[in-house]
Amino acid sequence: MKQSILVVNCGSSSLKLALFDETDQQLASATAERLNGKDAFARIEGDNRTVALPASADHKQALQALISTLRERQLMPAIPASIGHRVVHGGETFREAALIDDDVVAAIDECAGLAPLHNPVNVVGIEATRDLFPDVPQVAVFDTAYHQTLAPRAYLYAVPQAFYHDWSVRRYGFHGTSHFFMANEAARRLGKTLATTSIISAHLGNGCSITAIRDGLSVDTSMGLTPLEGLVMGTRSGDIDPGLFDYLASRGIPLAEVHKILNHKSGLLGISGQTNDMRALCELADHGHEPSALAIEIFCFRLAKYVGAMMASLRHLDALVFTGGIGENSDRVREKTLEHLGLLGFTIDPDMNEHHGRYSDGRIDHADSRFPVLVIPTNEELVIAREARRLAATL
Ligand code: AMP
Repeated sequence: MKQSILVVNCGSSSLKLALFDETDQQLASATAERLNGKDAFARIEGDNRTVALPASADHKQALQALISTLRERQLMPAIPASIGHRVVHGGETFREAALIDDDVVAAIDECAGLAPLHNPVNVVGIEATRDLFPDVPQVAVFDTAYHQTLAPRAYLYAVPQAFYHDWSVRRYGFHGTSHFFMANEAARRLGKTLATTSIISAHLGNGCSITAIRDGLSVDTSMGLTPLEGLVMGTRSGDIDPGLFDYLASRGIPLAEVHKILNHKSGLLGISGQTNDMRALCELADHGHEPSALAIEIFCFRLAKYVGAMMASLRHLDALVFTGGIGENSDRVREKTLEHLGLLGFTIDPDMNEHHGRYSDGRIDHADSRFPVLVIPTNEELVIAREARRLAATL
């Protein structure tokens, strides 16, 4: 336990902690949700006892409460060896994880304009653990950093280039930690090195993105300046015609309302009119609810189109990889997506798809398939713990 690494992930209204040992084993995890609200609560995984939180606890209070409870219950040491923080936006400043000092905190603050809901709470988490553990090395791991290897043809939009030079408008991409984990894990499972592995990685959770990885590096990705672009998601529209803004304005819908609709009321929820939850949608579709069936259709078709688009960035393909709550669990989504990709030579084995991992280390492709298809559970916390350990060792 002496060498344990604490991972801190502050979301807009939630907080997740995970503790790893030096052999990558997860020792404990804890979450706090609905922060800053009247019904804020916290719990430790596998422990039914309540965790006391102040009323309407904020991120800092929840972090302090969870850490002192984990210590009291002897689930974490008095002082961890290092601490890793998930930070959503690193802009163009951070091409990889960084040891945290005052300059790094200031640079993360500067990127807050690009991720106003996330970077400020990430900084709160960093400051809170720096107060609690002033002598422990702390590391920031950025969702955007892995995509900093995109070439200009992949990251620039076809708009006046002053937007990029003056206002930093470009594709940044997100879920980078998960896609990086996929590249490493696919390489390991295929018996290759990361530097020779090329995959298409589909992270399908409530947020969804797909990345082309060539020789271990991200070369194209579907999310853009913000996490709204690309695939259909739980409540986000993904790609739309930008002309929609004008059109809705002509119908009297203000910009702030359009933002809310595209981020929180669209995607699977918007199409089905019922839910953003894929599992619930599958059940509704099975009971004849047509809008839910249509939501699944549109989700899979958009995803298939993006698999095709990602091929443009690769010289060869070692595997198409699925991850995230939907990618890992929904054999229906995988099957329906790959039905559109027969022309590219993808075929899956229905039995392996239903029982992925049982026979073949996550392989679900049919013997005839031109490319392997894998299902790999993601583990962003583990990547953050490894980065924290790696950079702390350089001190
Ligand atoms: P995540 O954001 O990665 O936690 O993923 C959340 C999404 O995964 C939700 O849409 C869930 O409905 C979906 N999901 C989780 N388990 C299943 C399952 N067994 N079948 C279909 N979707 C699932």
